[in-house]
Amino acid sequence: MASAALLAQLRDRLGPQGLLTEEADMAGHAIDWRRLFPGRPLAVARPADTAATAAVVDLCRRHGVAIVPQSGNTGMAGGATPDASGTELVLSLARMNAIRDVDPVGMTMELEAGVILETAQNAAAAAGRLLPISLAAEGSAMAGGVIATNAGGINVLRYGMARSLVLGLEVVLPDGTVVNGLRRLRKDNAGYDWKQLFIGSEGTLGIVTAAVLRLLPAPKDKVTALLSVPDPRAALDLLACAQDELGDTISAFELMSGFSLRLVETHFGLKRPVADGEWFVLIEAASTLSGLRDAAEAALGRALEDGFALDGIVADSGRGAADLWRLRERITESEAKEGKSVKHDVSVPIPLVPQFLVEAGEALAAKLPGARVNCFGHLGDGNLHYNVLADGRSSEEVNVVVHDVVQRFGGSISAEHGIGRYRVAELERRRAPAELDLSRRIKTALDPLDLMNPGKVLSRASLPRK
Ligand SMILES: Cc1cc2nc3c(=O)[nH]c(=O)nc-3n(C[C@H](O)[C@H](O)[C@H](O)COP(=O)(O)OP(=O)(O)OC[C@H]3O[C@@H](n4cnc5c(N)ncnc54)[C@H](O)[C@@H]3O)c2cc1C
Repeated sequence: MASAALLAQLRDRLGPQGLLTEEADMAGHAIDWRRLFPGRPLAVARPADTAATAAVVDLCRRHGVAIVPQSGNTGMAGGATPDASGTELVLSLARMNAIRDVDPVGMTMELEAGVILETAQNAAAAAGRLLPISLAAEGSAMAGGVIATNAGGINVLRYGMARSLVLGLEVVLPDGTVVNGLRRLRKDNAGYDWKQLFIGSEGTLGIVTAAVLRLLPAPKDKVTALLSVPDPRAALDLLACAQDELGDTISAFELMSGFSLRLVETHFGLKRPVADGEWFVLIEAASTLSGLRDAAEAALGRALEDGFALDGIVADSGRGAADLWRLRERITESEAKEGKSVKHDVSVPIPLVPQFLVEAGEALAAKLPGARVNCFGHLGDGNLHYNVLADGRSSEEVNVVVHDVVQRFGGSISAEHGIGRYRVAELERRRAPAELDLSRRIKTALDPLDLMNPGKVLSRASLPRK
């Protein structure tokens, strides 16, 4: 059998540690953390370096076997797990976990795809530098996955998404070619910036094996504040006020609904330390200079005086701040404990967020009465996690209601989590034909046999027949 021959060749090339074929050993690679996208891998290959990764890709191409790249397997869109056919090989980057270099003067870090995000953050901090990508899955998510999904997180407002921090990339193409673009340059206009194609491509164009990331000076002063606000429009006024008073030191501006914080209190016993309100904002500002606390208190005073905020507290960095962040970080898990939900990761232009919330709420009430909304997100980026608890309703039914409103507002149906396999149909329904056609042309040019994460981002049926 072709697959038996492939497995024998892979075992030869990778050694006993490099190939898993027993069901029990593969179990953690076969399903995502939300347990929504199970599959059955042919095997799990665990190459230890770039050359071995290229060899795996080359062997799979010769045997016509599809590959599903996987890093930390924390993705939200079902992109990192195989289908149920038992014919797709999972290629895990977990053994490629070296931080090759941290340069505090050039402010760069070169690392392999399997380095856990938190490990990379700690290595930057040890050199007095900041790697500003931060998200609740940072203890498991790996550099390769973060880059392949162009992850966002809580610091996008100030530092941009993963894309803005990638200076250089090394990838293995679907034909097994290694392309080494691990340059540490801030300025490089020599030809096409091809690395951008791979950032956010969710493993459908090639495998990210290593990267050079941009670092920043580590902040020495940090303040975190929690405020209650009367409504989302006031939260936007508060954003403008905070930008006036704190300038570009604002690194996070998170909106949380009263419902979200009630879930956290119910399931984790964590109480919010500010008086009643139906909406809450968590703001963090960080600076390499001191004096932030005074500026934060001035901003809070102005917000209370002008009526944007109803109540608020300012915590110094340290324990108080961690307690405030815990409220935000527990929302996703509280929602999971509350019941089944249909998640949406949408963005609309920032000034339109309040009206979007009104119209999405009205559409749900009209079409899916009784549905409850757990809304929270990165208001400073116009990105909302608009999750709907609607017992007995299919995700398709709920998606259409929410995404119709998103589309009306000129928004995106995936702000930061990607398309994976979960949102393929929605993307194909809602993106302009010319944009989809361009994406298919890129995919076909790089992966004519559709062996790199097939069925993710673009449907198999939409690609030319092999
Ligand atoms: C609790 C929680 C909170 C989260 N919060 C955020 C958030 O705030 N912002 C945000 O943007 N995301 C968030 N995410 C989802 C986010 O996309 C992932 O956490 C992270 O970016 C994915 O990294 P990973 O290593 O787990 O990738 P995986 O899940 O392993 O893979 C994700 C996708 O990338 C592909 N891929 C993986 N590695 C490679 C590689 N080396 N080369 C090519 N393709 C590859 C996979 O095939 C898959 O399509 C969250 C997830 C969780 C569980």
